[in-house]
Amino acid sequence: MYHMRIMTCLLLCLFLIGFSCSKGQAEEGPLKIHFIDVDQSDCIFIETPNHKHILVDAGSERYAKKVTQYLQNKGITTLDAMIITHPHHDHIGGVPSLLNSFKIKAFYMPKMTHHTKIYRTLKKSLEKKNIMIFKAKAGNNIEISRHLAIDFIGPVQGKYDNMNDYSYVLKLVYNHNSFLLMGDAGEQSEAELLFKHVNVKADVIKIGHHGADTGTTLPFLKKVNPEAAIISTGRHNYKSIPAPAVINRLRYLKIPTYRTDLLGTIVVTSDGNTISFYYGDALQYIDTLVNE
Ligand SMILES: [Zn+2]
Repeated sequence: MYHMRIMTCLLLCLFLIGFSCSKGQAEEGPLKIHFIDVDQSDCIFIETPNHKHILVDAGSERYAKKVTQYLQNKGITTLDAMIITHPHHDHIGGVPSLLNSFKIKAFYMPKMTHHTKIYRTLKKSLEKKNIMIFKAKAGNNIEISRHLAIDFIGPVQGKYDNMNDYSYVLKLVYNHNSFLLMGDAGEQSEAELLFKHVNVKADVIKIGHHGADTGTTLPFLKKVNPEAAIISTGRHNYKSIPAPAVINRLRYLKIPTYRTDLLGTIVVTSDGNTISFYYGDALQYIDTLVNE
């Protein structure tokens, strides 16, 4: 078991270094972050300027075909990394199907187990393809180039009552721009990040838990102090999501908010200094506040 752990650490280090080796690769074009419209679930596709392709969460099972087509239309056959924030069905549902269509070079998921059918299917699919799970934790990072890194900044503790709080909190930093991806992390995880004085400041935040009032607290939002927020949520959900309380906090702080339930897929681009927002199949430029 001990050796196994050392082995895992070594492999993880190798992978992290492996990504850094691409530093010499030419950086062309902007960083693109696609918040794919997968209804009441999360699926974020990242295209880096040095041509790395990373998926953060895989949406629910019923959107696997849509995600597959979205990536295939871009000529993607390999994902350099797939990062699963936590093993709830609306984040892992699409994984088994995606594994059949794409080669996954590295797979990240928090250390925990979950007693659901989709989790068991996920584990079996990974075993079948001989894909190892890197159990990254706060403090780890993926250095993609000299100018771009994904930092695992949360969760900062090891035990939680609510599985959502096990969600990886990721901070993507590209030169002078930064993006905070909250997964489904809630109030407890946010409070701990603040308590530990973790630098959560970011230009754009992907709001936690589809905009539910389980997090996105005012003190946390103030500390992040974003220029814009993204909410990945569904049009027809039985819960009141995004929660009016969360929308009110965003309004109170005058944070422009872009929602997949209103706009469809949202694409955020950055050249390292300037961030732009687009939506829909035609990638229309967004220059208005959308938080009604
Ligand atoms: Zn979720």
